[in-house]
Amino acid sequence: MAQLPFNILDQDSDSASGTLHELRRCLLAWYGHNRRDLPWRRTADPYAVWVSEIMLQQTRVAAVLPRYEDFMRNFPSVESLANAAEADVLALWSGLGYYRRARMLHKAAKVVAFEYRGVMPLVAAELRALPGIGAYTSAAIASIAFGEAVAVVDGNVERVVQRLAGWGSESASGQAKLARDVELMANRILDPGRPGDFNQAMMELGATVCLPRNPNCLLCPLEGFCQTRGEHPTRPRAKMRSQDAAYALVVRTGSKGREVLLDQRSDDQSVMPGMWELPGMRDLARPNADVRLSVRHAIMQVNYYVRIHTVFEEDVDEVILPAGRRCWVPLKQLGTLPLTGLARKVLLRAKLAELATVAEVADA
Ligand code: SF4
Repeated sequence: MAQLPFNILDQDSDSASGTLHELRRCLLAWYGHNRRDLPWRRTADPYAVWVSEIMLQQTRVAAVLPRYEDFMRNFPSVESLANAAEADVLALWSGLGYYRRARMLHKAAKVVAFEYRGVMPLVAAELRALPGIGAYTSAAIASIAFGEAVAVVDGNVERVVQRLAGWGSESASGQAKLARDVELMANRILDPGRPGDFNQAMMELGATVCLPRNPNCLLCPLEGFCQTRGEHPTRPRAKMRSQDAAYALVVRTGSKGREVLLDQRSDDQSVMPGMWELPGMRDLARPNADVRLSVRHAIMQVNYYVRIHTVFEEDVDEVILPAGRRCWVPLKQLGTLPLTGLARKVLLRAKLAELATVAEVADA
């Protein structure tokens, strides 16, 4: 095996072609034996690939797995998603965070179903015209579902390519040029005969072997081609801020059984508009005596240290912040509401909700 020449982008020699051919063969053979069995890898349905790729953005595979299967059970086709109410789509997205992704997916499904007669565009450049589909997602759908030879470049692939080529993230040529070179390089090494498998193999290698802090080079199928073998500077992690928060858990028994008090975030909120959450406490420094549970909840760069207070119905006006829209929600209907991740986490921990899927609740 030969290392990838540092300047391979400028080379078109037979030896560079031979190296690339061998690299592709090694990576695909490794992927064939080591790929994780994930539900979206058992299909080439472009809609299924699309849903999975949107869910996987900034979200761990373990978190996506149960939500993906629920989502596909409820919305098995682009038409079923297009015809769904937004609240039902958000309810099934609950727990995945970054709800804008769900709204854009829903919007794009309407374009495909109603303007494109249910047929997805076949090439990456046209897929990018759909709401919420950028370079990464369009390349993933086009290569995996339609066999277009276009490289997917996510954070994992970027890291693998930089390490293979020996390009530092502190490159003197600047971040913009580095990003362009990484994309060119990813397309150069892509196997044009099996672009979908090759892209998934690169992502899998970055996710399971070429890890950000401790790359497992001894198990890497590309070790013989790699310029750095792990000696690659990693970007410092963004520093997390801490913030205290306090919410109220108010439960009563009403005409429809046990109910919990929830507030709906207004549509003009920049974060999670329209989602349902627990009411906020007026006083962050209330005594610990009525704290039902404490949770840590991370949203983007902030760690929230949240205290959940038990509040009685008769004390609501005194201790809870006012809200635009507030409702008593029967526990058995919680699964049909788009809940914020924090509300979902608290209701589950307080054993107030099984958070059944839309279909399960509808069947009940
Ligand atoms: S040899 Fe190590 S650094 Fe190089 S690609 Fe493989 S895991 Fe990453």
